[in-house]
Amino acid sequence: MFKIVQYSVYVLLLLCVSCAKQQHSSHSAVSCAFSADSAYAYIAQQVSFGARVPGTEAHQACGDWLINKLAHHGAQVRSQHGTMINYAGEVQPIRNIEAYFEGNTMYAILLCAHWDCRPWSDEEENYDDRFRPVLGANDGASGVGVTLEILRQLSIRKDRGEFVPSVKIVFFDCEDMGTPNHYTGKDRENTWCLGSQYWAKEYKKAISNSKPSVCKCQYGILLDMVGAPSATFPREYFSVNYAGSYVELLWRTASRLGFGRYFINQTVYPITDDHYYINTIAGIPCVDIIDYKTNSSTGFAEWWHTQQDNMQHINKQTLQAVGQTVLTTICSK
Ligand SMILES: [Zn+2]
Repeated sequence: MFKIVQYSVYVLLLLCVSCAKQQHSSHSAVSCAFSADSAYAYIAQQVSFGARVPGTEAHQACGDWLINKLAHHGAQVRSQHGTMINYAGEVQPIRNIEAYFEGNTMYAILLCAHWDCRPWSDEEENYDDRFRPVLGANDGASGVGVTLEILRQLSIRKDRGEFVPSVKIVFFDCEDMGTPNHYTGKDRENTWCLGSQYWAKEYKKAISNSKPSVCKCQYGILLDMVGAPSATFPREYFSVNYAGSYVELLWRTASRLGFGRYFINQTVYPITDDHYYINTIAGIPCVDIIDYKTNSSTGFAEWWHTQQDNMQHINKQTLQAVGQTVLTTICSK
């Protein structure tokens, strides 16, 4: 997924302060209990469909399963269909999956992840394997699985009459269709994150038309590659720049819960991920929780965009750290 934006001056920009309003305190009593076992099962279920590459049966079947699962936990759900132009200049159909879970707040918190798989394992050493799709246990399914489990917990809390925030969930399509390494055609910009670009434009249009049916989002949290063993989540530059107060809130919550070894206090290069378009097009301050390694040549785990992105590299302790941190943060008043 995505590319790292190498801004040599990014350090200077760390001085930027987000204007996002902070409306939470971190001291509320919280009774949310995220289940890593459940999140793991949701990830395994997605992977069991096969690689969810747009246009395939696995993609269609998994999308339908996601719709049912979201509705089962009490959300209003729809598929958002559209088209974008892909890396090769072709029309690319998009199927984003959007859900709204009504809670006790007027504005919703946006929880998002991408649900598609990369059609090529173009970081593979073996040449032939580069043209096989990525199974996407971590790169895709992990963020979706953690989000589904958060929704399940919210629905339990709501049934008990406890406070729950209103939540908008979006699973983006075609995040991982960015220009493959083997492509020799004309270079294009913005070839990653096609689904979130489409969603962000539609959201902006709807908000500016003041459609009463559109639920406004206060801020967003993007989960990307949140299931690997020994994952680390540094503070990513765009997140700090556009949604700094929410980065603070999340990382402080993680530390308080004992997950400081995952949510590390290091700021890293900008990463062009779905949150970039949510911040810049939709205008929603959005944080990216993404596993990033400064000591890796790609910035990511060694199985990133390879045939090895499978269930063997999904770790329940990491899922717990991410899921509990996000759930506790959003359930705090
Ligand atoms: Zn990817």
